[in-house]
Amino acid sequence: MTVDSADCLFCKIARGEIPADVVAQRDGLLAFNDIHPQAPHHVLVIPTEHVPTVNDLAERHAELVGRMVLLARDVAAERGFAEDGYRLVLNNGRHGGQSVYHLHLHLLGGRYLTWPPG
Ligand code: 5GP
Ligand code: ZN
Repeated sequence: MTVDSADCLFCKIARGEIPADVVAQRDGLLAFNDIHPQAPHHVLVIPTEHVPTVNDLAERHAELVGRMVLLARDVAAERGFAEDGYRLVLNNGRHGGQSVYHLHLHLLGGRYLTWPPG
């Protein structure tokens, strides 16, 4: 299921080998627009380091994950929908609906999002 860094789609985006609509870049993180947006704003925040899933996170990644959330929050603020609200999603593994095995935080905003998810 998981792939190594050489063959990983999001590592290729992080290395600039595959183009992406980059939104922000800082502190070992990259944010880019999702290619199939599920909301008016749909941004993915990834670490440039290859970490396949939440299950693979180590204690040393704690700050990195925190910074992923802060970057997503800042993008929401810059785009003007932070006050209206938004959703941050980490799909994890098969049951979680993860399709790309490089950790990524979805930022979804710009419309009312229903709950529960499917
Ligand atoms: P997952 O289903 O793993 O939580 O989310 C993967 C996301 O990556 C999906 O929302 C999908 O649309 C997005 N995605 C897949 N391939 C590409 C790509 O080549 N470029 C971009 N920008 N997004 C992609
Ligand atoms: Zn990767």
